[in-house]
Amino acid sequence: MGMNEKKSELLIQEAFQTMLRNTEDMIFVKDVDSVYVAASLAWIKMAGKETLEDVINKTDLEIFEDENLAERYRKDDKKLLAEGKDLVDYMEPITDEDGHARYGSTSKYLLYGPDGKPNGILGITKDITRDYIIKQHYQKELSCLFELPEDVYAISYIDVDSWRVISQRRQNIEEGTLQLCHTVEELCQAAVESIKDEACPAAQFYRDFTPENLCRLYAEGNSYWRFEYEREMTNGDVRWVENEVKFLANVESGHLCIMLKAKDIHEEKKEEQHIITAAKFDGMTMLLNRDTTMNSIRDVLIRERNGEHALFMIDIDNFKVLNDTLGHQAGDEFLSAVAGILHEGFRDTDVVGRIGGDEFFALMRNIGDVRKLAVKATSLLEGISKIDVGPVDLQVSGSIGISMYPEDGRTLEELYTKADNALYEAKRHGKNRFVFSK
Ligand code: GH3
Ligand code: MG
Repeated sequence: MGMNEKKSELLIQEAFQTMLRNTEDMIFVKDVDSVYVAASLAWIKMAGKETLEDVINKTDLEIFEDENLAERYRKDDKKLLAEGKDLVDYMEPITDEDGHARYGSTSKYLLYGPDGKPNGILGITKDITRDYIIKQHYQKELSCLFELPEDVYAISYIDVDSWRVISQRRQNIEEGTLQLCHTVEELCQAAVESIKDEACPAAQFYRDFTPENLCRLYAEGNSYWRFEYEREMTNGDVRWVENEVKFLANVESGHLCIMLKAKDIHEEKKEEQHIITAAKFDGMTMLLNRDTTMNSIRDVLIRERNGEHALFMIDIDNFKVLNDTLGHQAGDEFLSAVAGILHEGFRDTDVVGRIGGDEFFALMRNIGDVRKLAVKATSLLEGISKIDVGPVDLQVSGSIGISMYPEDGRTLEELYTKADNALYEAKRHGKNRFVFSK
């Protein structure tokens, strides 16, 4: 062997040792008796050891506490040597230096001596946990494309980079719930056209659905949206739909992709709205209930503290007599009729509610001309007196007390007390009239 050859051999040896100390891959060299000859530091750590001395000249049985594991390694080596064929890229569970489970991809290569016979094994294990988990996650996300859950109308998988609908699964197309779209533009247009409220976030999202906007949103760290909206189906039905929008990176192509899932939530949404309504409104008259009335009035007083408002407190006269004469059910119908008159008599932006029994509140916002108040009160009383109670000789009427913001007070409590006192005056002076707070 010439001097140069020897030099380069030493250099290769030195390079190999340096590589073993620095590579993140788990590398080892064993002889034909499965005794360790060399190992990378990463491999030594994986085996739960500290230094090269802990593993060199030892067998798996001496290194690993887990006998089964050591035995498996030994069998692998035997098989390799017996068959004379390299083992390439097989997955195996490994543990990191803290004992956490990881996924490894291992290759074992036979090494040959000058006589052409195997004289050792080179093993290389790469930690592929990260890629493996990403891939598994991706495949799990995609699996829904193949098994569409029953309440899912449609799933569309869009490649943002190539701007194509890659895959689409739809349900009930024959019954005409959602239309089939072949391009991203068609899909967005169909969404925009069928979303009832064009100002809702979902409509806005589909109007701005361009590759540029999506890439920007992705770059800004957004990856998931959930929208709820009312959508007009192709058969004319209007139903509540939930949209889930999710960014996914395609692990094969590296492209940015988007998964859209449309789900029917009509029944749940109706139930939810029913609960909200029940909590907010008085079930009998469908006016706001006491709590909601009070809170809404407080809101107005805070938000519009520079306005002029009037609080009407309305109470039915001799309602007990009406109940006693006609029965409770007729009494209920009468209260509903009063509610109808109040609802008609005020603007949608005013607050009208039933605060209990035969008592109602109406907050008239931004009254403008004060003379309007007397006109309003007169017409309400007239309306109440005209409610039909059938062929009985019973004159029905109401009384109203009115307090003014800000003259009579700035809080609901003050205005309530003042209106209540005025109402009391109206009752005291013979009922069927309105009185302003003094
Ligand atoms: P006043 O002229 O002084 O207001 O006398 P009133 O008979 O109307 O007596 P008050 O306002 O003090 O009492 C209201 C009555 O309304 C008491 C109650 O029996 C009846 N009432 C309360 N809630 C309901 C209801 O939901 N339905 C019916 N039918 N009656 C109700
Ligand atoms: Mg009453």
